[in-house]
Amino acid sequence: MGSLRMLVLIMWLPLLAGCQGFPMLSDGSADWAIESVTLIEGEGEVRRDHRVVVKGDRIVWVGPMSAGGPRAAETIDGRNQFLIPGLWDAHVHYLYDEELTEAMPDLFLDHGITSVRDTGGDLDRLVALRSGWTTAGRAMPRFYFSGPLLDGRLVVYDGKTAAQPALGSSIPDIVAAKMAVAHLKNRGADFIKIYELVSPEVFEALVEAARAEGMPIASHVPLSLPADIAGPQVDSMEHLRNIDLACARNWRAMLEARRVRLTDFDGLRGYPLRRELHEAQRYQSIADYDPARCADVLGTLGETMQVPTLRLNAFYHSRPFEDEAFEHALLGLPESVRVRWRYDVEELREPGREWDLRFANWSLGLVGDMHAVDIPIAAGTDTPIRLAIPGESLHRELELLVESGLSPQDAIFAATVAPARFFGLDGQMGRIRDGQRADLVLLRANPLEAIRNTREIQGVVAAGEWVRREAP
Ligand SMILES: [Zn+2]
Repeated sequence: MGSLRMLVLIMWLPLLAGCQGFPMLSDGSADWAIESVTLIEGEGEVRRDHRVVVKGDRIVWVGPMSAGGPRAAETIDGRNQFLIPGLWDAHVHYLYDEELTEAMPDLFLDHGITSVRDTGGDLDRLVALRSGWTTAGRAMPRFYFSGPLLDGRLVVYDGKTAAQPALGSSIPDIVAAKMAVAHLKNRGADFIKIYELVSPEVFEALVEAARAEGMPIASHVPLSLPADIAGPQVDSMEHLRNIDLACARNWRAMLEARRVRLTDFDGLRGYPLRRELHEAQRYQSIADYDPARCADVLGTLGETMQVPTLRLNAFYHSRPFEDEAFEHALLGLPESVRVRWRYDVEELREPGREWDLRFANWSLGLVGDMHAVDIPIAAGTDTPIRLAIPGESLHRELELLVESGLSPQDAIFAATVAPARFFGLDGQMGRIRDGQRADLVLLRANPLEAIRNTREIQGVVAAGEWVRREAP
């Protein structure tokens, strides 16, 4: 248990003793209601002076205070507070750092993240993790996973070094693609994740198999395909990866060079091969950016959710380690992880260091352009990769989305309705409405005035339970 969570529980103890949990009453009234609160969703009007009634894990009634509504066993005063739907982190890796795995659910909940999309890890271990935590009755965010990164003949995350844990799986041909998707479906994976070294034929086979199984598809743009060919075939794209190439004036020649290299890699491993291609072409692509070509590319992506992970792409711009909130959240990490991360932070803080902002600026600009043409955007962080503190980093992502051109309300949409929609769940979660799942975050400051106010957390409700609640 992290010290942050411990602190929260201590603050909550007197409240717990007073109310003895939230009993279901035999007369059919609800468990609890929050009153006189301001409701803010990812779209639509702000509703002031409202009452939200919860029974079990559902919202059962929402209306203005004047309308009354059903009785509840417990009443919570929501005056001067703001209720938003529980947040998603749409891009996490529970298995990236084993010393952090067990701490992650509590860190997410403490920061108001009530659903996560795990975008790559060993299938057996993810299945065991989810069922183990569920069986233990552990409070955790709703947990959706893809299983391994479906990669090519070579695998980027092949487990050969600590920096490249075994998150990937080799899919050398079409037969393997079909078998992999059937196996994932069978084991309870919620979607598939296609990675960068797949061939165009394998990409196509994976898409076809996932469609046949009714599984949503998340993907990096493979190195062998342009974004305007791969993107429209999938449901989400991660990190804006390889869109840089598609938006360059000479994209055809660069793609051709890439394809040649991808068939001639004897003796190389997946990770260095990918790095070599990115290093050879990323900055060249950005320098050769063609707005007209890019507008055409974006024109193909109107139905494809983008998870830009600006937190990662714009790391040198945002420099989280210079922020007090980062320092504070660091205290919530297990000690062994904190020690390692502090070492990394000290290196980054070396005086006189120069920051190469080309990729950060390109990423922020592209997200603004995407948002301007209504390409759906979702908030994800890639935590815990590159000093992304589980939970805290999602709030940083929201801030960067706003910096790139989304309104604060659009950013809330990106962390609520958008990821729910990826799974076809937006009728059930992501809003504060009758019948929706009771995943909620209570804030003591208005996030529409400053998105940073999503950090001002008074309480968190996951599946109807107060998993964090601070004394007023
Ligand atoms: Zn990732």
